[in-house]
Amino acid sequence: MKTFQELDLIAPLQRALADENYEIPTPIQAQTIPAALDQRDVLGCAQTGTGKTAAFALPILNRLGAEPRKTQPGRPMVLVLAPTRELAIQIGDSFATYGKHLKLRHALVYGGVGQHKQVRDMQRGVHVLVATPGRLLDLMNQGHIQLDRLEVFVLDEADRMLDMGFLPDLKRIISKLPTRRQSLFFSATMPPKIVELTQRLLRDPVSVNVTPKTTSVERIEQRVIHAERSDKQSMLRKILSGDDVDRAIVFTRTKRGANTLAEKLVKSGIPSAAIHGNKSQGARQRALDAFRRRQVQVLVATDVAARGIDIDGVTHVVNFDLPTEPESYVHRIGRTGRAGAEGLAISFCTAAERGELHAIEKLIGQKLEVSGEQPKPVSAAERHEMRTNSRRPGGSRRSGGARSGAPASGQPRSAKPRSNKRPAAAGQASGQQTGAAAVIAAAKSAAKPKAKKKRVRPASMWAEVV
Ligand code: AMP
Repeated sequence: MKTFQELDLIAPLQRALADENYEIPTPIQAQTIPAALDQRDVLGCAQTGTGKTAAFALPILNRLGAEPRKTQPGRPMVLVLAPTRELAIQIGDSFATYGKHLKLRHALVYGGVGQHKQVRDMQRGVHVLVATPGRLLDLMNQGHIQLDRLEVFVLDEADRMLDMGFLPDLKRIISKLPTRRQSLFFSATMPPKIVELTQRLLRDPVSVNVTPKTTSVERIEQRVIHAERSDKQSMLRKILSGDDVDRAIVFTRTKRGANTLAEKLVKSGIPSAAIHGNKSQGARQRALDAFRRRQVQVLVATDVAARGIDIDGVTHVVNFDLPTEPESYVHRIGRTGRAGAEGLAISFCTAAERGELHAIEKLIGQKLEVSGEQPKPVSAAERHEMRTNSRRPGGSRRSGGARSGAPASGQPRSAKPRSNKRPAAAGQASGQQTGAAAVIAAAKSAAKPKAKKKRVRPASMWAEVV
């Protein structure tokens, strides 16, 4: 296994990598960086969490840093297209981190916010533009951005971009790219439409196919707790007040549920913020920043809002409500165990949610370990609720073809002894451990990483290059 020092990267990048304590390139980096440094096109089949951002950011920064050039207003040298604002922001952050010892400028262009600042940034001139397709096209059509000076084009999460209906926008943007350019293309899956797109876009690409050695769901410790709906909140508080909970993401099914739960957690002394589609882009970003800076310990999220969140050190994911789409389960738990850390995913399951649980277990091909009491037999009323759930729109149960936001993992999480530092919140069970309290106690012990669990060195946890 090569180290970063053996890759032919300029000194300012080596310094930035050392600052980040990155020593060993992940497989996608080990394959992509040399090819991209050779100015080859790259077709990378890789999921988020494999280190793909650095795989394209480092060779790009190397190229710009090795031969410094002046920027020109509105004419970037590098364009990175991402499907969502959140992902664009994260990519921008990565360029800032890896490029911090270089004098290069990058800008972000995405929708949902005013364009004034973005236009001003572009006017000042940037080396790297990270953009989402819709706003980029808007600014191109208004004459604020021209792509004629582009040297490198990156398309990140191409399959998600197509899922989100960006193909027409994408084709329009591609038609404006200069023919002489380097293209780096990343997608977690390769359906026929993506293959067609790669054929239009790439010239004699080096293919890098990174398939996880084990899927995320096998690497992340997963538990299910069978619970009454009314016990979920107190169980959650108990879990979140555990000593080993560094940062947690809690998933609810509805936006209202996310708000209510975050408020209740705050009231019981657990710093939390909600993030969902009804919040403005600014509010979402503030919540994410607060979580990243550890001002809040818990992010309560709905599925859509949580896609693409890349925050290291999320030790726990709690499914307060099980998702109706089993694939969402894989995406959700992929928020933990990132960047080489171990993660723990705990799911609450009421009798009415057992159908969802079965669909998830079928999809991931394993039974979740039960913490605490085994499920009680389903009552007639609960059977009725389950039938209602399964007829609900969006309650369809599909199986197969998990597209995981698979994290790679590595740096082991310390198995600290647990103690409750925080005073017990109102409504928490105490004293005799019966019923819900016993389940809570079991959940707490579930939250403790198993001592016998094998610790694997970061590099070997990364996906394997095929
Ligand atoms: P990505 O797949 O680009 O979303 O990266 C996933 C996470 O891995 C990010 O949080 C990076 O900071 C981290 N990461 C990327 N490359 C390395 C590396 N070589 N060693 C350790 N962590 C890394």
